Amino acid sequence: MSFDTLGLHEALIKAVTDSGYDTPTEVQGKAIPPALAGRDLMVSSSTGSGKTASFILPALQRILAARGDNTKRREKGVVYGPRILVLTPTRELAMQVAKAADTYGRHAQGLRVATVVGGVPYPAQIKALRGPLDILISTPGRLLDHLQTGKAVLENVEVLVLDEADRMLDMGFIEDIQTIAEHVPQSRQTLMYSATFAGHVGRLAQSLLKDAERIDVSSHTDTHENIEQRLHWADNSTHKNALLDHILTERDMEQAVVFTSTQRDADWLADRLADMGHAVASLHGGMPQGRRNRVLQGLRTKHLRVLVATDVAARGIDVPSISHVINYGLPMKAEDYVHRIGRTGRAGRNGLAVTLAERMDTGMIRRIQQFTTQNIPVAIVSGLEPKSPEPKIFAPRPEAKFGGKQFGRGNDFSKRPGKPFAPRRDAGFAPRRDEGFAPRRDQGFPPRRDEAFAPRRDQVFVPRDAAARGPFDRKPAEQGAFAARNGGAGKPAPRPGGKPGFKPQRGFSR
Ligand code: AMP
Repeated sequence: MSFDTLGLHEALIKAVTDSGYDTPTEVQGKAIPPALAGRDLMVSSSTGSGKTASFILPALQRILAARGDNTKRREKGVVYGPRILVLTPTRELAMQVAKAADTYGRHAQGLRVATVVGGVPYPAQIKALRGPLDILISTPGRLLDHLQTGKAVLENVEVLVLDEADRMLDMGFIEDIQTIAEHVPQSRQTLMYSATFAGHVGRLAQSLLKDAERIDVSSHTDTHENIEQRLHWADNSTHKNALLDHILTERDMEQAVVFTSTQRDADWLADRLADMGHAVASLHGGMPQGRRNRVLQGLRTKHLRVLVATDVAARGIDVPSISHVINYGLPMKAEDYVHRIGRTGRAGRNGLAVTLAERMDTGMIRRIQQFTTQNIPVAIVSGLEPKSPEPKIFAPRPEAKFGGKQFGRGNDFSKRPGKPFAPRRDAGFAPRRDEGFAPRRDQGFPPRRDEAFAPRRDQVFVPRDAAARGPFDRKPAEQGAFAARNGGAGKPAPRPGGKPGFKPQRGFSR
């Protein structure tokens, strides 16, 4: 199949060709024709599958088709608002979508794309909302703020896109999305992307979509053939740190994203690695957007070799030179494992995804293996072998049956007969470990709505000493602060690795 056969405008085909793509990916091949025909879509497709282009290209086509019909938009003093509205769970993903809109819309003259996300000042956003606009990409919390103050006009939206809808619901955005959808005309086209359409995501789809076509370019059972997965068992956190240090100094390590379970662990670990001389920074939802952008830019320009990140902040990172993903702290949900490892092996390259697990992580490893229907092969670093016996990962219930390809050692789930096993992808509103629902006493501001469990307006905040800080150095956490990893139970935070206290990270210095 080629892009010529999909019915796209030549300006879009040219932009796609400029980007070096000649063949549509599976999701593009399946979603673009019905989207161009005006159908509502429910699409399951993993990140890295080319899903952004699968909705941005049809959206751009609509804008091109409407060119010449812009007289109304030029009426003085009339705020017309966007034709296309894309909602994303995180600011990073919003930026990614905006970048794709600019890339694929580069031959659409005068294309106007704006992003309205939390954590950045309001005035520029208000100005952008007032001006002529084709595509608006936004996180729900901030857009709702602008709706409530009358700054955002959505009455001329023709296409509403919900990207990673399951994640938006996990983050507590359901009411915001419903309110936003009420401000968008009923006659709109709605394209909804989600890993799952079970449970509350399915109910939301039912209420927002009309006669939708379901496209499932299945994601979680993808074998990620270009990503090698490894599991290292660690006896304790000291052993885990030694394994991490070894992996980060391997010769084939170009750039790595190290995932932690909490924001606090991300800061702590980035400090530790900076002390060791790595070019490292942390990235998490407790950081102001400006700094998050600078960190991502540092990663793209290779000033940073290691990024220590939490799940929410790392979503949407598309940096082809990331050779390693290291799970230092395990994710809260099995599907996050898939999102994490998808940060490597991008743009046709190979990647390595290493998981460092302690005995207490056994249950999560089992859930990940059930979810992906793959075993993660166990590996050993010579000289750093675990002293404890390898924990046994119990097979799923005997009636379990999986469709995915098996590899590696251990249980062969596929040989077990019986009832299909449904992984609990749709685990509901469980708070995420990295979303900081524990009191953040060290920062003096409450958790943000788009990152936090407690629903809260997506307001601007400026940490007290932000002005005094450079782009990558961070505010030391106070000793004895409560850790999110303790569930805010009031115990002093144990440092991973047992190291008490804190040494300030030295940012980029090697
Ligand atoms: P996404 O799933 O939207 O995050 O896209 C993942 C990556 O695939 C991005 O780097 C895109 O630039 C790239 N991509 C999009 N469409 C194609 C295509 N048809 N062929 C190859 N790569 C693509």
